[in-house]
Amino acid sequence: MLTNDELSKWDRESLFHPSTNLGQFARGEGPQRIVSGAEGVYVTDRDGNRLLDGFAGLYCVNVGYGRPEIAEAIATQARELAYYHAYAGHGSEASITLAKMVMDRAPRHMARVYFGLGGSDANETNVKLVWYYNNIRGLPQKKKIISRWRGYHGSGLMTGSLTGLELFHKKFDLPLAQVIHTEAPYYYRRKDAGMSEEQFSAHCADELEKLIAAEGADTIAAFIGEPVLGTGGIVPPPKGYWEAIQKVLARHDILLIADEVVTGFGRLGSMFGSDHYGMTPDIITCAKGLTSAYAPLSGSIVGQKVWEVLMQGTDEYGVLGHGWTYSAHPIGAAAGIANLRLIDELGLVGNAGRVGRYLNDRMRAAVGDHPNVGEIRGEGMLCAVELVRDRDTRGFFDAAEGIGGKVVGAMLKRGVIARAMPQGDIVGLAPPLCLTEAEADVIVDV
Ligand code: PLP
Repeated sequence: MLTNDELSKWDRESLFHPSTNLGQFARGEGPQRIVSGAEGVYVTDRDGNRLLDGFAGLYCVNVGYGRPEIAEAIATQARELAYYHAYAGHGSEASITLAKMVMDRAPRHMARVYFGLGGSDANETNVKLVWYYNNIRGLPQKKKIISRWRGYHGSGLMTGSLTGLELFHKKFDLPLAQVIHTEAPYYYRRKDAGMSEEQFSAHCADELEKLIAAEGADTIAAFIGEPVLGTGGIVPPPKGYWEAIQKVLARHDILLIADEVVTGFGRLGSMFGSDHYGMTPDIITCAKGLTSAYAPLSGSIVGQKVWEVLMQGTDEYGVLGHGWTYSAHPIGAAAGIANLRLIDELGLVGNAGRVGRYLNDRMRAAVGDHPNVGEIRGEGMLCAVELVRDRDTRGFFDAAEGIGGKVVGAMLKRGVIARAMPQGDIVGLAPPLCLTEAEADVIVDV
């Protein structure tokens, strides 16, 4: 086995880490943590620290670490059929079974699931499907996609454009021209106008209406949004938001893509965020919770309305020219089947609702009155603590101080992993859905 020093050196010299300050890392300045094992909600690193993972990796290890049922399912699948493709009607028992299980859980009006590898490629697929849909309908100019500021939809060319966070655009020549952004439903930062949540939702819908009018409804194909804004700060929608937004979209023949990469399969205490908020999306993106990250797999769940046009298109033009080598990968599918079974058997959707509420309530009771805590918000197994210089004015700390990062660093020293969200001083928590109340207490106490 390599020594820690060797491993550290190889890491600094060889591995190109995502979302990392490259120069700092290469010079040995930036943080480095080499994780060696994990069990339940705890991960262990090579320095011997045992850390409660309050962010479930990247809000993906929903059933917790070290589940033998999923490990066995992966091993068995690898022995029996490690791979076969899904092109031209081919498949495997695992990918077909998982598709059936996903469709049994998805909202009723959904028709089929296309399996990819991660949230970014799923959203790339979704945009292509939406473009194809409008071409088949004879509306070739109806192509723009509206996303929200603070939304996160991936970091590819199109999906990085959809993402409404500056970090993912800066120096990449993004966003692409087909993407436009509208206001985030970030009620906490807009309260000074004296608006109720419902009024603020109506305001967001008005802003959307104005944007559509300015661009021309005949140029806009779809609206994409996370049921709860995730990476943009863990922001649940204000009351009435999705209802108001959906009315505008319906008026202008604009499709709704619900990006449920974080919220899909239980994180909000409902199977999907769409169920949770009464949304009727045309396409649902899912990934993380589909396999609890035991293997890479995503899904684009396509609604009946879009599906029928896709079939019409292939009747007219032949094979749909879209697919990855690893679409519907049997090993990912085997992990997904075992994962969804575990979620059911352990009642993790209900647990996410119950323990998530406990975590949020306890957090409010513990630090809600702190002079530098502006807001504590959450839904299901999501919780955010927004830090402010001044509670009354909701004044920001100087960004250069990096207070959010410092708090997260201090938590880490005390044994809990939280995440400094990339925009603003927001400490994010998204523990595995199997978190117990006792483990929630550990997070809050730290
Ligand atoms: N969509 C949402 C809502 C996400 O949170 C993420 C990742 O965090 C993505 C898409 C991108 O998924 P991936 O990182 O698997 O490409």
